[in-house]
Amino acid sequence: MAVSGDCRYSGFNLNFNDSDANRIIQIKMVLSTPVAKLFMVGPIYAKRLKQLEIKTVGDLLYHFPFRYLDYSLISSINKIQPGEIVSIKGQITAIKNVYTQRGKRFQKATVQDSTGNIDVIWFNQPFIIKNLKVGYEVNLSGKVDLFNRKITFVSPEYEISRGRETIHTGRLVPVYHETYGVSSKWLRSRIAPLIKTIVPQIEEFLPTKIREKHNLLELKKSLEQIHFPKTKKKADEARKRFAFEELFLLQLAVLKRKRIWQQKKLAHQLSIDEKKLSFFIQSLPFKLTQAQTRALKEILADLNKQKPMNRLLEGDVGSGKTVVAAAAIFAAYLNKVQSALMAPTEILANQHFLTLNQLLTPLGLKIGLLTASLASKTRLPNGRQADFDLLVGTHALIHKRAKFKNLGLAVIDEQHRFGVEQRAKLTQKTPHVLTMTATPIPRTIALTLYGDLDLSVLDEMPPGRQVVKTWVVPPQKRKAAYEWIKKEIKKNKSQAFIVCPFIEESSTETLKSVRAATSEFKNLQKEIFPKLKLGLLHGRLKTKEKTNVLKKFKEQKIDILVSTPVVEVGIDIPNATIMLIEGAERFGLAQLHQLRGRVGRGKKQSYCLLFSGQQGKTTFKRLRALEQTNIGMELAEIDLKIRGPGEIYGIHQHGFFNLKVASFTDQPLIEKTKRTAEMIINKIKLYPRLQERLEEYTIKQVEPN
Ligand code: ADP
Ligand code: MG
Repeated sequence: MAVSGDCRYSGFNLNFNDSDANRIIQIKMVLSTPVAKLFMVGPIYAKRLKQLEIKTVGDLLYHFPFRYLDYSLISSINKIQPGEIVSIKGQITAIKNVYTQRGKRFQKATVQDSTGNIDVIWFNQPFIIKNLKVGYEVNLSGKVDLFNRKITFVSPEYEISRGRETIHTGRLVPVYHETYGVSSKWLRSRIAPLIKTIVPQIEEFLPTKIREKHNLLELKKSLEQIHFPKTKKKADEARKRFAFEELFLLQLAVLKRKRIWQQKKLAHQLSIDEKKLSFFIQSLPFKLTQAQTRALKEILADLNKQKPMNRLLEGDVGSGKTVVAAAAIFAAYLNKVQSALMAPTEILANQHFLTLNQLLTPLGLKIGLLTASLASKTRLPNGRQADFDLLVGTHALIHKRAKFKNLGLAVIDEQHRFGVEQRAKLTQKTPHVLTMTATPIPRTIALTLYGDLDLSVLDEMPPGRQVVKTWVVPPQKRKAAYEWIKKEIKKNKSQAFIVCPFIEESSTETLKSVRAATSEFKNLQKEIFPKLKLGLLHGRLKTKEKTNVLKKFKEQKIDILVSTPVVEVGIDIPNATIMLIEGAERFGLAQLHQLRGRVGRGKKQSYCLLFSGQQGKTTFKRLRALEQTNIGMELAEIDLKIRGPGEIYGIHQHGFFNLKVASFTDQPLIEKTKRTAEMIINKIKLYPRLQERLEEYTIKQVEPN
């Protein structure tokens, strides 16, 4: 390519000569340059592209097609058969609007090559008359059919021949994820010039040895072939390279995080007073399960080390994580250091505060509560945080800058509700960190995303737990189900949850979802359960209102609590025995499992009813899995296979768990990239371009949404 002073496609008017040094500066600018600077993009398109998470030129190049239209069969006009999908090239000899008797309009053209001519029609695309003129050379791709008994191209893709390679016709044509105002055609037209101008200047960052060993296509070639492949095989090779690249970078980032963690200075090494701890354990109203005992042992061993603990405690809802954390907090207290426990919502923080008070106050711990709504007044006796052995709270713990005198242990409940960045903030002082989650994380994901954490799993429920009977309810049984709920509530004096899904694909509860839940609440109260007392819970309520509703529900002054999925995170109402979930297909199985875990906490038999707006076979089959198993991990593995990782945790976890090219089900590749990353991380300085790429990558991961 002749490099001239005017880079038309990138829209830069920089004058640069052909020297290598200048070229490198130019490349860096270009890959990280906002897309708005590109030729024919501008601020309006930039805004649209943001919907696709495309902000820079590099993002655009890494926006890969998810399939290709096969327009690679090129034919001469006389050989075309009806029913075929083909491509031709010829000259327009006629083109006009045609009006049918019914007043409809279509566009008709005739195209000729040296072997003959063919009719072409489009429906209701009047602008085509403006774009294509008699005499133009065009490429057409699409389906050929009989129209009025003549062989005719019906609504083909068209592309005017300009003596350069085609991008919409006559080849494998990429199809991209689109968004409002951004079509695949538009994307092709923007990406193709980049392949010619910028891509040739991008330098490979994977070490040659690694590329050769794993037989990976070079970066430039891969970018070219994933967008505009010569053959399907070439596209697959490119994809293979990007899958490797993606997991490899992820593994490197995780290893890097792990190393950084291990190099941190520990705030307080703790000694373990076995005797007092076992006194605490004996004094509990129940016997710890084997899994709890094992997890606690692992945690205590960590607390005793010179390096800060970074451990994930994974266990289904109700598996008893809190008491394990309480024991660790007690161990810290015995060392005269403070603990913090951070919960994702105020409701949960309040609940933890109560539970931990019951468990630990008798042992002499002073416990404080800090949430956003309490922040100024605080419920702290003496009003001084420094006086506390344990401070329970929400993000307020970070944002209100709780001051600890000597923080030794930080417990974080439901970790992936927090951004990575937030976690980093709380842990700057590097106490021991215990993260708890009820989210079942499949092994392959634990190996990658959480590869920097040590893992303890509570794979056993405390004895005597009942199995929640679960049914997928077909629409024709909805009425009967409501009747059944009425009877059940009356007969057993029990209570029910009715959960409405989030309506939009969003990480938080939107107003639309709140409205849907509100109108469902009104409808249920008026039409279905007029004799029962219903309550409404959603995230937009004021804290006081929320607490009030929950209090009433707990005191059995409310029979049915209608809510958005906010109840998912740990409300403990042992008298509630029915969980009805609307729009169940919108949830991941693991998430449904977590919702189901809100019932079955007391002695009475509990039930989970799944209503689905969709009736497809796959939906049904997927939901049936919940009837068959009550082990979260199994459900997560099933969802991982059927729907992919973004879906396991429900619609709002996209992005975070989703890989672009690779798959979390590809265990061999996960292991291969892990080994490769482990081999190279210690000598990464030898590969400056890889190192640089890794730095960009890490920053991206840590970025709050
Ligand atoms: P989660 O893991 O969902 O946070 P919790 O810690 O809230 O679970 O425990 C759920 C319930 O089980 C609590 O009421 C707790 O007291 C009880 N529990 C915990 N461990 C045991 C055990 N070993 N035996 C019986 N009950 C237990
Ligand atoms: Mg819990």
